[in-house]
Amino acid sequence: MAYPQLVIDSAAVAENTARIAERCAARSLSVVGVTKGMSAQPELARVMRASGCSWLADSRLSNIARLRQAGIEGPYLLLRIPMADEIDELLDLADVTLVSMTGTIDLLERACRRRSCEIASIAMIDLGDLREGFWPDEMERLAEAYRSAPRVRCLGVGVNFGCFGGVLPTVLNERRLVEVGAELERHLGHPLEILSGGATSSLALLERGELPEAINQLRIGEAILLGTDVTGNRIIPWLRQDTMELRGQVVEVRRKPSVPIGLIGADAFGNVPVFEDRGERLRAIVALGRQDVRLEGVRSLLPGAEVLGASSDHLLLDVETCPSAPRLGDVVPFAVDYGAMLAATTSRYVEVKVL
Ligand SMILES: *Cc1c(COP(=O)(O)O)cnc(C)c1O
Repeated sequence: MAYPQLVIDSAAVAENTARIAERCAARSLSVVGVTKGMSAQPELARVMRASGCSWLADSRLSNIARLRQAGIEGPYLLLRIPMADEIDELLDLADVTLVSMTGTIDLLERACRRRSCEIASIAMIDLGDLREGFWPDEMERLAEAYRSAPRVRCLGVGVNFGCFGGVLPTVLNERRLVEVGAELERHLGHPLEILSGGATSSLALLERGELPEAINQLRIGEAILLGTDVTGNRIIPWLRQDTMELRGQVVEVRRKPSVPIGLIGADAFGNVPVFEDRGERLRAIVALGRQDVRLEGVRSLLPGAEVLGASSDHLLLDVETCPSAPRLGDVVPFAVDYGAMLAATTSRYVEVKVL
């Protein structure tokens, strides 16, 4: 089974990584390469590491295990605050973990004591996006938790933007992270090594020279893999967007009316479809569907073609105005956004090919 296929150009990913690493290095920022968006493809993780990322990070331990098995050197950061039931696996696989509960610090300490080992951590601070993180006024309590957990090292503080609340990074909230970090330092009595100022969306601040001096790390996935910033709703002009393409094969080409014939109920997903009458149109069916990809994030790269919709396994393309309409058996290309990339690399029905 050759299609659907997600074809990834590792040279383009390498170029993006190197450009980001170079810009960041000019500001003494280190780059953590985030692999979760492409389900930790080892070839791409290797490229990230070789092109300037100082650490690799993923939200899932199974992905980190996969990369370690492929022989790719860390250090590895676990991006999702850990589950109580994965603490042992975490100590086996990750070098650094994010934390957002003192209870998790206690669990880590107990496991480390039992195994006579240590773990490094970065405390996440919630600055308004309302996903994970300590509140800024909890630093005294956090320092106490760290003091009673000598095997859990506090490397620093970090923040997420644009993940749940869509909050954008700004000079003000990045400065707030620096202040909160300084307060934690005071309570801990030692300096912090890392101020992790966010993800792809923070690159806009870097470009404008607005990222506070003290921020010294960014965790980057989307910009490396796609050259885009979905939170900032922009293409990053100094990066490549032609890093990957989803390919599907055409299984039917036929002229059909643009409005269905008969009484309209709901489609297979419970939505009642609405149609505009454009007369008869030439349409192609591509063997590609919701089991393969997040269709809202797919854009046809075939000149003149337009995605009409899709079900679990069939994607309908209007090809009426294509300068060269696809024929049965042709392979047609699509661009993917972050959500579609995530789904396509997770689906066992899509073959991932790294060139
Ligand atoms: C996914 C994730 C990132 C990377 O985000 P991008 O927008 O892909 O750069 C960074 N930090 C955390 C905690 C994440 O979960």
